[in-house]
Amino acid sequence: MLFSSAFSKPTVYSCLVTTSTRGPIGAAKRHIQAQWLRRKHNNARDDFRQSRPDAQASRLDYDYDEMITATMPMRFSPTSELLGYPPNVDVDGQSECFISGHLMRKIVFTPGIGSPLPRAGPGVKSYRVTSVPNKGEGMLAARDISAGELVLAERPLLVVPIGVKMKTVRVLPSNGEPTSAQTTQVQEEDAEKFFALAVKRMKPRQREAFEKLESSHLREGCGPIEGRVRMNAFGFKELRDPPKNGKPGPNYGIVCEDLSRINHSCGPNTIQHWDMPSFSIQLRAVRDIEQGEEISVNYSEASLMASYAARQADLAPYGFRCDCPSCTNPKASDARRHQIRTMLQSRTKLAEQRSGAGPEEDSDTPVEELLDGLTLVQELLDGLKLIEKEGLEGTSGYGFMLTLVMSRYAADGDVAGMRVYARKFSVWRVATHREGAVDEEEVENGFGLLPLAELVQKMTTGESIL
Ligand SMILES: [Zn+2]
Repeated sequence: MLFSSAFSKPTVYSCLVTTSTRGPIGAAKRHIQAQWLRRKHNNARDDFRQSRPDAQASRLDYDYDEMITATMPMRFSPTSELLGYPPNVDVDGQSECFISGHLMRKIVFTPGIGSPLPRAGPGVKSYRVTSVPNKGEGMLAARDISAGELVLAERPLLVVPIGVKMKTVRVLPSNGEPTSAQTTQVQEEDAEKFFALAVKRMKPRQREAFEKLESSHLREGCGPIEGRVRMNAFGFKELRDPPKNGKPGPNYGIVCEDLSRINHSCGPNTIQHWDMPSFSIQLRAVRDIEQGEEISVNYSEASLMASYAARQADLAPYGFRCDCPSCTNPKASDARRHQIRTMLQSRTKLAEQRSGAGPEEDSDTPVEELLDGLTLVQELLDGLKLIEKEGLEGTSGYGFMLTLVMSRYAADGDVAGMRVYARKFSVWRVATHREGAVDEEEVENGFGLLPLAELVQKMTTGESIL
């Protein structure tokens, strides 16, 4: 397949991409770090010294840390021949990227790269972007959305590294060592110029959408493009270069047209995932969402289980104070989250103790004794309610508690109760692990607990189990 004349060839720039500080999300607070390499000229073009001006779209042999502006998703054959863009880019969009040679190869060799975006639910679009009181813009549910449902899938407008060190930096008009303010200024100017390389490649409609996004540049003194990246970027572990020479690789910030409008909550009703084959961010509901309700995600790198103070401190660089239900009543919320943490710790310990027991030890243990430590179903259900009250259905703790409730019902010989929670657990896996759909077979089988439930059922009804 030939690529069209609209195909823009990638361009390679010489710079080093190095460490970002931590965690996948939180582009906002990471400042671009520049290395001082003094040069005797300040020709702006030298900032982006092109090491390979003859770079061809058909090549993939870029160095690990060579930076390339490229439009994704791009497809290559297994023998590294360029196939061009997938036919869906007109509908699903394409992303302007400023990425390392390593990441480019990782992307284009992902099996199925360029797959069409999955469509969210049948019928009416599930969300609309609109103004939200005290929050600027936000995303509201345009219809009822069920737990596990795909709310949207979106290809980014922009993918740029967070944490860039450049080889070439202009000389500041000062003698001796630069002050830290001067260093910061140059770092920000350089980041702006690098990011501009990718923004320049956007189609007019993409650029217009990008420019409509909120920017923190007036508040933070960086450039408008970096300000937009700081305010709007998501990060994912799948888009992170591996360590080199003992140093962690850079994270990438991903900016989207719609998804970047979504607001934060400490009890978010959705969770975001990166899907490499379709080159998109996908948002799934972790609980039922009613029409008109605001759709939210977690921005913070701090654990959602953390205290109010820890969460607010983590969100400070975004320039807002969270006013989610938990942050509106922090004392009660902190007490509940503390209770949840304690509950999960003790349950995890019990589970580990049980799984740690050797099989020989278990062989003669009566069922009741094996389940000792699993408390009454009501106590577990109360624990689940506590997690739901704090809006933490997207956490692993919630999934763990669902398996305990399911096990408790099975141990009580309550097949119907077991299946109710097996279904909830399957929905939770769809939302948090992007499993395609509820696994009806596993629900029916209680994820392997059905034989136990049936055995106990027979024992309690006095039926012969032999
Ligand atoms: Zn909050």
